[in-house]
Amino acid sequence: MSSTSFLHLFPFFLLLTLTLTLTLADDPILQRFQQYLQIDTSHPTPNYHQAADFILSQAKSLSLQSRTIEFVKNKPLILLKWPGKNPNLPSILLNSHTDVVPVEPHKWSHPPFAGEISDGNIFARGSQDMKCVGLQYLESIRNLKASNFEPLRTIYISFIPDEEIGGHDGADRFANSEVFDEMNVGIVLDEGLASPDESYRLFYAERCPMWLVIKAAGAPGHGAKLYDNTAMENLLKSVEIVRRFRAAQFDLVKAGLKEEGEVVSVNMVFLKAGTPSPTGFVMNLQPSEAQAGFDIRVPPIADQASLERRIAEEWAPASRNMTFEFKQKMSVYDKNGRPILTAHDGSNPWWALLEGAIHKANRKFGKPEIFPASTDARYFRLRGVPAIGFSPMANTHILLHDHNEFLNKEEYLKGIEVYESILEAFASFPAETKKDEEAIRDEL
Ligand SMILES: [Zn+2]
Repeated sequence: MSSTSFLHLFPFFLLLTLTLTLTLADDPILQRFQQYLQIDTSHPTPNYHQAADFILSQAKSLSLQSRTIEFVKNKPLILLKWPGKNPNLPSILLNSHTDVVPVEPHKWSHPPFAGEISDGNIFARGSQDMKCVGLQYLESIRNLKASNFEPLRTIYISFIPDEEIGGHDGADRFANSEVFDEMNVGIVLDEGLASPDESYRLFYAERCPMWLVIKAAGAPGHGAKLYDNTAMENLLKSVEIVRRFRAAQFDLVKAGLKEEGEVVSVNMVFLKAGTPSPTGFVMNLQPSEAQAGFDIRVPPIADQASLERRIAEEWAPASRNMTFEFKQKMSVYDKNGRPILTAHDGSNPWWALLEGAIHKANRKFGKPEIFPASTDARYFRLRGVPAIGFSPMANTHILLHDHNEFLNKEEYLKGIEVYESILEAFASFPAETKKDEEAIRDEL
């Protein structure tokens, strides 16, 4: 999941990691996870090369083909390949990102880049988001290879940089590259979220960000004068209207009528007004301009066009001397005008295969959801390739981007089994001809 906020790193953290005695688990599977977690790939200075070397060493031990691609210098993307018996069938792509969000180490009970295991819980930044998934892919392949499984379809595994800062130098470039076209990808698996109960969570779409700035203008005036149409008053009317819309959407979630990802979320992120003075603000002047910024997230099942009309007519109407602009606006539609989502009904054979495979591994899953924030999966969906967000973490507090991020080791190990089941199902899924497969894909 993305975050653009960078927290401060503290110098004593360096000292802490250097003096730390690292204890590795006895189980080699857990050891490898710990080793990956110990590589500090946090922004703003992720150690991508060390992570790349580690992934490449794992690929070698698994006899997987590998290549390193730098769409942007010093931001390596590692692409691994397990060739299928029928290379003409669309392939399977297992995607994960190697970067993690920053930490405030003094707020952690365990050092964030050690992978310490305490009470069966593995503590580290990235233990949930999403170094777990990247290595679970590889461990499941290790087990499948040991059992002499041979995939019918080619399996690719990608380790991608920069997801946490928007993915523009990572998944965006990858999904729009010739390399990707040549891979003929039929289905992508990418990250999901932990689930506090026993059911896994599956995501078929995600909300699209619209970062809105509204501006009010009005005649400036003496701070003592009462008059209509000041910039402050115009802006505050809008803020109140937006606040009511926000409350109505939130009420739907609170009443259990909609999931978080199914409503439009609006949160005010800045307010800017006032005339600066050397000591703060001029106190006897009503300013001629005022602004507010909002982070809006729109699910692809919402009517984005009507929301934009609402913004123009109610949130920033010209009748109140207001204007607006989008700092970022992502469409919920692809270039063919279709909502950017992956079918999760009978029309998508991959969805049924995934559910069957999870069942077979004796795990449950909840009803399909829309991811509340953004992930790299959107770049693949934009290309028309079905992508499912799934991180096998049940019975787990959602701690991504939080202090003391951890994953229970049993849950981690169970996830490997689940991916074995999924890969067996996906990689064995036949299709009569490539044409049939493309026809299926076009319908999705
Ligand atoms: Zn993530």
